[in-house]
Amino acid sequence: MIEHWIGGERVGSAETFTDISPIDGRVLTEVARGGATEASQAVEAAKKAFPAWARTSKVERAEILHAIADGVEKRLEELAITETEDNGALLRSHRRGVMPRVAHNFRFFADWLVQLEHKDFDTRGHTNHVSWDPAGPCALITPWNAPLMLATWKIAPALAAGNTVVLKPAEWSPRTASILADITAEAGLPDGVFNVVQGYGAEVGGPLVAHPDVRRISFTGSVPTAQRIAAAAAANLTPLSLELGGKSPLLIFTDADLDLAVDLAVEQYDNAGQVCLAATRILVQQEIADEFTARFVAKASALRQGDPRDEATDIGPNVHEHQLAKIDGYVKRALAQGARAVIGGGPNEDLGGLYYRPTLLTDVAQDSEIVQDEVFGPVLTLQTFTTEGEAVALANDTKYGLAATLATGSKERADRVSKQLVAGTVWVNCFFVRDLQAPFGGSRQSGIGREGGNWSFDFYCDLKNTVTAPKGWNDRG
Ligand code: NAD
Repeated sequence: MIEHWIGGERVGSAETFTDISPIDGRVLTEVARGGATEASQAVEAAKKAFPAWARTSKVERAEILHAIADGVEKRLEELAITETEDNGALLRSHRRGVMPRVAHNFRFFADWLVQLEHKDFDTRGHTNHVSWDPAGPCALITPWNAPLMLATWKIAPALAAGNTVVLKPAEWSPRTASILADITAEAGLPDGVFNVVQGYGAEVGGPLVAHPDVRRISFTGSVPTAQRIAAAAAANLTPLSLELGGKSPLLIFTDADLDLAVDLAVEQYDNAGQVCLAATRILVQQEIADEFTARFVAKASALRQGDPRDEATDIGPNVHEHQLAKIDGYVKRALAQGARAVIGGGPNEDLGGLYYRPTLLTDVAQDSEIVQDEVFGPVLTLQTFTTEGEAVALANDTKYGLAATLATGSKERADRVSKQLVAGTVWVNCFFVRDLQAPFGGSRQSGIGREGGNWSFDFYCDLKNTVTAPKGWNDRG
């Protein structure tokens, strides 16, 4: 049984829900199904713990964050397997990429905090001193596609800055947040500084984000949920950060290294397409479209689909039957409207369950839903363009603006095109590389705000400027 973690204690709920593995439909555990009562208890615990935690020095907090990172590294294998069982993402990615990154998130924000400083400056002899004051209890709401990694982008800077936290993990992947709670306790984090409430979004997440004592809301998830959360935040004018969906383009020009372009395109099936940044719209210059498609098909057809715990597997299941039905609905409607499946086009009947074949659709109209909407599954579309201007116009023509990837051999073109793209991140001849010092986030409906480096601290803190007169001190200290 997975319970809530509130004020340093395990807390149950009258009702539970069942956590089922997408790998094989196995029942993993029952999970406490929280509601308004648990949300309120958790905010109370976070509020109570806040003054003492806010008073600790940066160095003390950094030490605890490093101890949490040590705990993550000690339990890395357990975290990796647990998350794979919960959301079906590849175990090899969890082992070698995701969970080491979780530890790194704590280390990075601990160290960044210690050196975070603005120089004082003078205005007509008065000293201006800018400080980052912790804001208070923060409500963090996260999705299931990279549950612990995405949560720790928020938890680490929020705690480092001296805030307290209530985390609401996604109901389809509740378990690693619970293990993290144990790790924080073992690392010496005081009771109530980090809390976890489990349950469904509207039932426990809704009351959490509407709570008047929450000082920051940070949300990663879908646009419709963000709209509900923003409406709740409006009532209290709670500052919020939103990391949302995307429909990012991969632009491939005639001057590109075609092998690299094919690798970049096939990489978009990572995590069975359940990646917010995925460049799911392939835009390829007309002259090389046939050659690209042939090479893409050869490479994508060689992907091994199966149990994500097997090191040899390249693509696992989708997370839930609702997600699979949503993906298949998009593909069926696209096919009915005249799209052609170059590969895939339906569930993998050989495997059954939640495995969807990697799919590439052509003959898709720019204004069709398959091109405009985020499918969040292993489904890519392919369109062609003739000129650079047309490529940019197609790339920018959705409601999103999360990321864009370019494959080109021309630096001048890369500079010219990347300047015109509406995207929080542009990758040139690469994908997914990101330093935590850099800003991360989306434009348009892909989000509000940025995470990473100083941007995280600017969000989780109340910035204060203390202006001191040049004289007027008495000698009594
Ligand atoms: P979702 O919006 O359905 O759920 C996200 C979280 O919000 C879950 O924990 C859910 O329980 C909670 N929630 C749902 N309703 C709520 C409410 N009324 N009040 C408070 N909380 C509520 O999204 P999802 O399906 O879990 O995740 C997939 C989405 O996340 C995709 O759109 C994807 O692009 C996006 N995503 C974005 C990023 C990014 O960094 N930009 C990263 C990963 C995923």
